[in-house]
Amino acid sequence: MKTIHDSGSSTDCHKASIMQFDRAADLMELDSALRQWLNTSFRELSVRIPVRMDNGNVQVFSGYRVQHNNVRGPHKGGLRYHPDVSLGDIRGLAAWMTWKCALLELPLGGAKGGITCNPKEMSFGELERLTREYVHGIGDLIGPYKDIPAPDVNTNARIMGWIMDEYSKRQGYSPGVVTGKPMELGGSPGRENATGKGVSMVVSRWAEKENKRLDQTSAAVQGFGNVGYHAALHLSRLGCKIVAVSDSTGGIINEDGLDIEAAGRHKKIKGSLSGFAGGDAVHQDEVLIFKCDYLIPSALQNVIHGGTFEKLQTRIIFEAANGPICPYTEPKLPGAGITVLPDILVNGGGVTVSYFEWVQNIQHFKWKDEAIQLELQTIMHRAFDRVIVLAEERNVSYRIAAYILAIDKVVRAGHLRGTYQPHI
Ligand code: NAD
Repeated sequence: MKTIHDSGSSTDCHKASIMQFDRAADLMELDSALRQWLNTSFRELSVRIPVRMDNGNVQVFSGYRVQHNNVRGPHKGGLRYHPDVSLGDIRGLAAWMTWKCALLELPLGGAKGGITCNPKEMSFGELERLTREYVHGIGDLIGPYKDIPAPDVNTNARIMGWIMDEYSKRQGYSPGVVTGKPMELGGSPGRENATGKGVSMVVSRWAEKENKRLDQTSAAVQGFGNVGYHAALHLSRLGCKIVAVSDSTGGIINEDGLDIEAAGRHKKIKGSLSGFAGGDAVHQDEVLIFKCDYLIPSALQNVIHGGTFEKLQTRIIFEAANGPICPYTEPKLPGAGITVLPDILVNGGGVTVSYFEWVQNIQHFKWKDEAIQLELQTIMHRAFDRVIVLAEERNVSYRIAAYILAIDKVVRAGHLRGTYQPHI
């Protein structure tokens, strides 16, 4: 069964994205019709996905694809597998993709997808059948020039390969329908670690701005998946002392610095950080409040809230995850001496290299890794510098500055295309 504009629940990511948008829109004095156009999804699809489980029973899952805005290019956004996935969250995550792509000046719009499931309790075969059936459900919406999914929480290159295969069976060979694919199927050099690498580029640019060497700094990283692991690894290679890391099973702290490569090897073999001997084991929530210069939440949304923010022992938060700070708590952070570098800037490295992958697929040409790293750095630094300059000029937070830059680009494109023309 498919329903367009399923009501969905208004959960944190959706609320957070609206509250953040409104703060910038107020300063920009946007009129109400423009706000409505920018602040609601273009299209929302909800699908039911029947899957034959290994025990012979059929289980029916709920899946979503939300397209927020495509005035600057095809919709683009990750696919999340998690028990808490809801239409409301996917809505907010889709809007953040629009603002992220605009801020980074990538010719792409915003979208997000998700399936409410617990992939940790599913076999490889069940995940493959789930993914293929989901592509069957959303197949009319996606395509290389329509909407291009990518990995997000609990999805990976293997799953992207199944999406490419299922779509290509119907439409002909179409590597550009999805990014984050295995290299053998048209994936790009540098995509797997791109988000974490981008995070490390933003952190090191910030350290430069503060006239600090990275080997004089320390960081705590919450989440040790694709983003958290690669962010921690690249920062440690640049000299930053990683004093705490965590995953959903627990945290590890070491004031002298953790060996991130060893922690990564441990996680690969054991499936979690639990039991890693390179530091002291703590509850995962302790990592968020561990003393450090830079806190890098890299797991899920809404983890810094009224119950945690007063215990924070950091000066700067780099939002590597999407929406890790509760929007009601954020206004209190400056008073506590805490600065926030926003997600739509900090974790933009992933979609940037996804864009490079898409371009390579369309060109049927492979770029070299060095070219990708150089372009990634150019785009991340340019966006960072613009955010810093505008925030200082307008005396606003870095998040509001990032939103103003992004909204302005979308509004201009809408105006020029005639999609949204305020004055005729
Ligand atoms: P992932 O599934 O690879 O990793 C998530 C990690 O978070 C896992 O290590 C998990 O154990 C951990 N985690 C979950 N709950 C936790 C808790 N309570 N405490 C500590 N750790 C916890 O996902 P990912 O791709 O790394 O995505 C992480 C975040 O980054 C998400 O917000 C996602 O939307 C965002 N993001 C991802 C990409 C990408 O390219 N993958 C790009 C941009 C933004």
